[in-house]
Amino acid sequence: MRRTVIAGNWKMNKTFSEAEDFFISLTDALNEKPEDEFDNLEVIVCPPAVFLELATDFSVESPLSIGGQDVSAENQGAFTGEISADMYNSIQVDYCIVGHSERRKYHSESDSLINMKIKRLLENEVTPIFCIGETLEQRENDITKEVIISQLENGLADINMEDEVIIAYEPVWAIGTGKVATPEQAQEIHQEIRNWLNYKYGKEIAENTILLYGGSMKPANELELLKQPDIDGGLIGGASLVNDTFEEMIDIALQLRG
Ligand code: PEP
Repeated sequence: MRRTVIAGNWKMNKTFSEAEDFFISLTDALNEKPEDEFDNLEVIVCPPAVFLELATDFSVESPLSIGGQDVSAENQGAFTGEISADMYNSIQVDYCIVGHSERRKYHSESDSLINMKIKRLLENEVTPIFCIGETLEQRENDITKEVIISQLENGLADINMEDEVIIAYEPVWAIGTGKVATPEQAQEIHQEIRNWLNYKYGKEIAENTILLYGGSMKPANELELLKQPDIDGGLIGGASLVNDTFEEMIDIALQLRG
C-alpha cells in the first residue's frame, strides 16, 4: 500500500525565530499522537535552506521528515550559491523538491536540467519530489496531457525508478492563486501519470509510486482530493505556513488514511 504524504513547501517565507516556533508547535502536535498513526502517513516540511539544520534537529525526535526546495545539478565545486545533494544527505535531509513551476518560471529551468538534478538526488539517496504541471494557457489549448507526458519523459529520462521518486502534479494555474483543480480534474491527470508509469516501467513501479496533488490545497478541499484513488497526498504551499492549518491538514489525512 502506498503511504500518504503531506508535504509543506514554505518557499521564501519565515525568519529563524518564526521557523523555530513553527517546529516547536508542529513536533509537539505530532509527538502527542500514537507513533503507529504514522505508519502510513509521512509528514515532510521543506523550509528555506538556511533553516534545514534547525529543522533536522527537530525531526530527529518526531515523526517528521525534512526536504530541500531545490538542488544543484552538479556534485560540488565552483558553483556559488548552490547546494548539492551530498550536502543534503550529510544533514539528514531526506527529500528535495525539484522542477517546481516557480523554478521553471523564474530561473528558466528546463526539463533536461531538472533531469540532472533528479539524478544527483538519487545518487545521494535523497528522494526527489518531482513537480510537473500545465499552465492555464496549455489547459485552455487542451494540451494538458501532452505537456504532462513530455515533462515526465524528459524529466525522468534514463532514470529506472527503482529508487523512489515522488511525483507532484501541480497545475500552474492553481499554485498560490486560490484556484484549486476539482477532484475530478486532478484525478484524471493523476490517473494519466500512473498509466504512463505502467506503460514505461511496469505495474509494480506504477502501483508503488506516490503521486501528490499541489495547488491551493487547504483544509476545505483536502479531503475530497485525497479520496481520489490516484492521489496519495499533497504538496502544500501557503497553507503549510500556519501551524493550525497545517496541523489540521495532517489530522484530515490521518482520519482518512492513518
Ligand atoms: C506549491 O508551492 O507547491 C503550492 C502548491 O503552493 P500553494 O499551495 O500555495 O498553491
